[in-house]
Amino acid sequence: MQKTSKFFATQTIIGKKMRHHEFSPSSLPMLAECPCFSSSEKETDYTSEGTKRHRRLQSLLEVGVRITEEEEIDDATGVVWAYNKIKEKISQLLCTDASSTDTKQLIDEKKLFVETIVFTHDGAYNNLNFGTCDLFFWDGKSFEAILFDLKTGQKRDATAQMANYALAWFQRFPEISVINSVILYSEFRECKIISFSKEMCENIVFPIIAAAKSQTKKKRTNQYCDWCEFGNHCQARLDAVDVVRFDRPDIFKDGPSFRSSEIVKRALTALDLFSLLPDDDQGFAEAKKEVQECSEAIGYLLHTAKSAAKYLSGIEFNAKKAIKKGITIDGFKLKNKTSPLEVTDIQSVFELSKLSSLDFLACCDVSVSKIAEKMSEETIYAILKEYALPISDDWIKKSGDGILKSAKQKALEKIIEFKRFGIRGENILSIVESVK
Ligand code: SF4
Repeated sequence: MQKTSKFFATQTIIGKKMRHHEFSPSSLPMLAECPCFSSSEKETDYTSEGTKRHRRLQSLLEVGVRITEEEEIDDATGVVWAYNKIKEKISQLLCTDASSTDTKQLIDEKKLFVETIVFTHDGAYNNLNFGTCDLFFWDGKSFEAILFDLKTGQKRDATAQMANYALAWFQRFPEISVINSVILYSEFRECKIISFSKEMCENIVFPIIAAAKSQTKKKRTNQYCDWCEFGNHCQARLDAVDVVRFDRPDIFKDGPSFRSSEIVKRALTALDLFSLLPDDDQGFAEAKKEVQECSEAIGYLLHTAKSAAKYLSGIEFNAKKAIKKGITIDGFKLKNKTSPLEVTDIQSVFELSKLSSLDFLACCDVSVSKIAEKMSEETIYAILKEYALPISDDWIKKSGDGILKSAKQKALEKIIEFKRFGIRGENILSIVESVK
C-alpha cells in the first residue's frame, strides 16, 4: 500500500477544474528568467492544439491500446510516438517487454497517474503552488519513479518545471529517492531525461518561488516576455527601447559602467568603422581592435536590439489591429495593399502584352533557384567556363540526376555575384543570352 503524506492527503482536489496557480510548475522556467513574469493565460491556436494532443495521449493511456503500424506511420503530431516512448520507459523500469505493458491496468492499480493535480509545499508545510502533471509512474515499492511531460512545441529548457513536479511527487511519496523526468518533445520525436533527488528539486524550486514572492523583485526582459501578461506594456521592455534611442542613460545608473550612453555610442562608432571593411591591413587591425574593446557593450546592444525589435513589432501588430477597427493613430496610416494578380498562363499574357521579351521579363520577379533548375548542365558549365570561374567540388557532386539542383543554383548565384548583376529578369537573360 502506498503511503501518502498528510499534507497531500488534505489537499487532494483531483478532478476539479482549477485556475492556474500564479507560480505554477509550468511558469517556473519563465519565473527563473524574470521573477515578475505572469502567464497571460490567453487561449491561442497553439495552446488549444497542445490541449488536444494532451487529451489524445490521455485517452490512449486510459484505454491502453495497441498501436498498429498504420497509426505509427500516420502519427503527424507525435502523440503515438510519445505513447510508445512512455510504454518503453515504464517497461524498462519494470524489466518487462513494452508490448506487454498495459497502461490501463497500471492506472487501475494506481501506479500510473494521468493528468493529476499535484501540490508543493516548503519545509514548513506552507503551500507553494500546484499544477497538473501529465504523467507519473511508480510501482509502489521501488526507490525510483518516472515523470513524463509531453511538449508539443519548441524545445525549451523545462528543468525547473520538471523539478517542481518531481518535488511534488517526492513530497507525496516519501519512499521514493530518485525521479527520472522524461520530457517528450513530440514534434521532434526526441526525449530528454533529467534525474532528480528531492534535494536537487528543492535547490531549484525554492529560490525561484522565493524570488517571485520577493517585495524587491525586478523585471528582466527575456525570451518569454511575449507570453507574459505584462508583455505589451512592461516598463523593462520600454526601457530596452529607450536605451536604443540613447535618451535614457539614467536608467542604467546602477548597472555596470559600460551601460552608459557614451560607451554605447562608442560601440556603434566602432561597428560603423568596421562595417567600412578597410582593406589595408592597418585599417582592418584598428577597426578590429576598436570593435573588440567594445565587445561587451556590443553584446549588450545585440540583446537590447532583439528585445526592442520584438517589443516594437508587438506595438505595430496591435496598432494595426486598432486602426483596422477604426481607431485613428496620429502620423500612422495603414496602406491598403491589394495582392497582385498571379499570372498562371505566362505565354498568353506575354502574347497579349505585345512587349519585347526583355520588357516582359523586367516586369517579372525571377527566382534564381527556379531558373537554375531549368538550365541545362551544359549551359551552366559553359557560363562558368566563359567567365573562367573555378568549379567547386561541391557544385559538381553527381547525384543520379546529374549536377545537384542546389549546386546549379550556387553556380548561377556565383555568376550573378561575379558579374555584379542584380537578379532582375533582364540581367539574368543577358547572362544566358551572352553564352548562346
Ligand atoms: S514582460 Fe516584463 S514582467 Fe513580463 S517577463 Fe518580460 S520583463 Fe518580466
